[in-house]
Amino acid sequence: MAEPVFFEEGARVAVLTTQPLDRLLTYRAPAGGCWQGAFVEAPLGPRKVMGVVWGPGEGGFDAAKLRGLSRVLDVAPMRGEMAEFLTRVGDYTLTPMPQMLRLATRAPGLTDPPSMRKIYRLDGAGPERMTEARGRVLEVLRAYGGLAFTLGELAEMAGVTTSVIKGLVKLGAVREEESPRDLPYPRLDPTAPGKPLTDDQRAAADALVAGVRSGAYGTTLLRGVTGSGKTEVYMEAVAETLRRGRQALVLLPEIALTAQFLKRVEARFGARPAEWHSGVTMTERRRLWRMAGEGEAPLVVGARSALYLPFRDLGLIVVDEEHDQSYKQEDGVLYSARDMAVLRASVNAARVVLASATPSLESWANAEAGKYTRLDLTARFGAAVLPEMRAIDMRAEDLPANRWISPTLEAHVRDRIEKGEQSLLFLNRRGFAPVTICRACGHQIACDHCDARMVEHRFLKRLVCHQCGETKPMPEVCPECGVEGKLAPVGPGVERLAEEVGERFPEARVAVLSSDLFASARALKAQIELIAAGGADIIIGTQMVAKGHNFPLLTLVGVIDADLGLQGSDLRAAEKTFQLIRQVAGRAGRADKPGLALLQTFQPDHPVIRAILAGDEDGFWRAEAAERQAAGVPPYGRMAGIVISATTVEAAFDLANALARADAPLRAVGAQLYGPAPAPIARIRGRHRVRLLVKADKGVALQAALRQWVGQFTPKGDTRLSVDIDPQSFY
Ligand code: ADP
Ligand code: ZN
Repeated sequence: MAEPVFFEEGARVAVLTTQPLDRLLTYRAPAGGCWQGAFVEAPLGPRKVMGVVWGPGEGGFDAAKLRGLSRVLDVAPMRGEMAEFLTRVGDYTLTPMPQMLRLATRAPGLTDPPSMRKIYRLDGAGPERMTEARGRVLEVLRAYGGLAFTLGELAEMAGVTTSVIKGLVKLGAVREEESPRDLPYPRLDPTAPGKPLTDDQRAAADALVAGVRSGAYGTTLLRGVTGSGKTEVYMEAVAETLRRGRQALVLLPEIALTAQFLKRVEARFGARPAEWHSGVTMTERRRLWRMAGEGEAPLVVGARSALYLPFRDLGLIVVDEEHDQSYKQEDGVLYSARDMAVLRASVNAARVVLASATPSLESWANAEAGKYTRLDLTARFGAAVLPEMRAIDMRAEDLPANRWISPTLEAHVRDRIEKGEQSLLFLNRRGFAPVTICRACGHQIACDHCDARMVEHRFLKRLVCHQCGETKPMPEVCPECGVEGKLAPVGPGVERLAEEVGERFPEARVAVLSSDLFASARALKAQIELIAAGGADIIIGTQMVAKGHNFPLLTLVGVIDADLGLQGSDLRAAEKTFQLIRQVAGRAGRADKPGLALLQTFQPDHPVIRAILAGDEDGFWRAEAAERQAAGVPPYGRMAGIVISATTVEAAFDLANALARADAPLRAVGAQLYGPAPAPIARIRGRHRVRLLVKADKGVALQAALRQWVGQFTPKGDTRLSVDIDPQSFY
């Protein structure tokens, strides 16, 4: 879209809708006319659908037969740069535009007319007679500190009927107010000074601030060990962005991290920023969507999909923990939020800060190539020093069957308990045991719908498939041979490790951090705060503990199985293991006490383990980069993964083979095709999966070739085809 155009009433306009159609629809502009970019309601058959006026309509239709748009919605029109961004993400990821528009309008009630509504908030003292249901309502209101809710939302969140809330209104414990549907966010004060920075930090902050002042696009990789003050430094760039009247977006990989961050923002700028993630209420989502478009949300903290909010003037995007794999969206539109942040910034003349202690090889290579600026913070702030790292050679440890904590590690944990310090035992496996085997016949219990073994979760008292989420009770008898009482768990998950910890350290207070053990983001937040305040001696965690939580009393990290990530054929196995273990180790010794990280390994001489222990990050990256370059794989070559799925293997292979035979468009650009082959997980949710892999040189216009190639076929029946550009996981 170029400069916005106004269409007089009755003029032909082309409208992009969220309906799965492969073209724009032509309508007449509604009464009062409309701007290009306006969000509109359009009649389609008997229904009304949401759309965006994309441009002038085509002239080919009989004007008398064209339908008029119903009305223009009362939200800020889509800006030209947003339309361009969506188009480019669609082109890059081979996603049809209606699906892109859905991604950009993920807020409920955008078509509702603006109006007043009743909202409910905490008022006065509690009621004289407290009931369990009333208590739950008040608890929700308190938990969201001062926020107000609609009647329906509050009832749902508290799990009560609306009459309970009405009752509390009568008693004066809850106040009912009329309110415009969406209020602007509180103003942030960007003039207040931050903490006095060290010289290192000052230099980095000045460079970021100068970037923001330039008003031009640019990406900076901000590298620094955990605790070196990256957040303090990029907060200076946020402040400068706000001072210039532009908006800033900070992406975090994990909802549980937002609580700490919100507090820091509040301490610095005097108010909380807007939040966007799956834990946010529907009313808040809608409010933020609208306010972002009106420029009334100066700072947004969120998950990857916040990139698609309709910011009026986005000046800065921070991607914290930029190497984190959760930035890759793995279903629906397959995109990397890190890469799309760079794209969004380039169409908005905005800045990007990629922050990490262990950057992705992609970002490292872009910095080496001069595409990104690189800033390094080398020291930890204050007295905190990086933890010492040592291997525990498991071949030399005396460990009984079904035990995973070596005597050496045990002694270190005991020592920490005596000193009143915390230990973290890291095991990247949810549940009790990854495998359940029948000791009579050797059968392993597998999911009925997937090519995956079921994982025992004792906490849930069920077997769970980590692919599809299917659960079933633990059977009494072997489903294969019918023998009773012979089913046994094999290998550890965090729950089983917790059992061992309970036996070895009966006096210790133990906290398990695993995403499946918490019913809500709020419960998880509470647990994290409890741990930070010293409410546990031993923390047992999956990879979610690796992500930036600050536990000041933690001085020991024990990695239960450092070899776990090294198995498998994933091209990023070494990189992921390196990042994960370095991140986890970085949890130790953040405050004034030095930390120690102990890695239990059967391969202490493995090059990756040695690189981790040596802490030679640049050396590791250079070696890894050389290997990838030699293999012509990302970031030195391009890749696309194609997954074809169907209810029968034959149907999936039919399409895959047909595609493989018709590979002329790929050969024309020198791309190579591998496969088809059954996917590593050959069946998920009852659907058989076949994979193809396309590899090409870095400079190749791969999307155009892929579009041409895939476009030769239309999947029939229930066969589905998905293309994943720059795939991160190969399952
Ligand atoms: P990172 O984001 O690199 O992990 P943080 O910005 O969270 O590091 O800093 C780690 C801790 O040190 C935080 O508690 C932070 O407030 C504190 N800190 C960092 N730099 C300073 C500074 N210059 N003055 C005071 N405290 C600082
Ligand atoms: Zn399954």
